[in-house]
Amino acid sequence: MREESRIECIIFDMDGTVVDVPYDWPQIKRELDTQEKPILNYLEELNEPERSKKWNILKKHEKYATQKAVLKNGIVNFIQFIKKNEILTALVTNNSKENVAYLLKKFNLEFDLVMTRESGLWKPSADPFLKVFDHFSLSHKKCCVIGDSQFDITAARKAGIEKIFIINKDIKAFKEKGVEVYPSVKELRSRMTQMIS
Ligand SMILES: [Mg+2]
Repeated sequence: MREESRIECIIFDMDGTVVDVPYDWPQIKRELDTQEKPILNYLEELNEPERSKKWNILKKHEKYATQKAVLKNGIVNFIQFIKKNEILTALVTNNSKENVAYLLKKFNLEFDLVMTRESGLWKPSADPFLKVFDHFSLSHKKCCVIGDSQFDITAARKAGIEKIFIINKDIKAFKEKGVEVYPSVKELRSRMTQMIS
């Protein structure tokens, strides 16, 4: 028997979730001197010429990491499995349209909806997720999020999403946060099979 609120849409994060990427975020934040603010929010508040200069630093790191990206083990089959179960897929990332297009093409991936930071909506605000609900005319109760970081959790919570799944080897780091954490796609897939089939 299916659960009453069967999931109809899965919102995926990209970096660290669909692909493994060599970002050193603490180092990037130090380099940009973000003063504990989310990077994109911090950059948007700057004045020129500092703004352009720092945006270019971020873009340089993103370009490097994107070129080095590899698919997360098992993720392609997992996405196929989700689609086979007639569940909508959305990719919501704070990365740029250019980098996302590069990765989707390189790894031959398709999502029903792709949202990048060019939308002007980014995590950790709920806005990109609210846009997904709107796009598919779905309630937050019908959507779940799969991510790898605190940003995904914060944004999902603000958007009222109850089912949050994190793929991260550092299980302990998320233990107190009331989300389900799995060390790899394999374990998450077992859980999803139980939830949606
Ligand atoms: Mg991520």
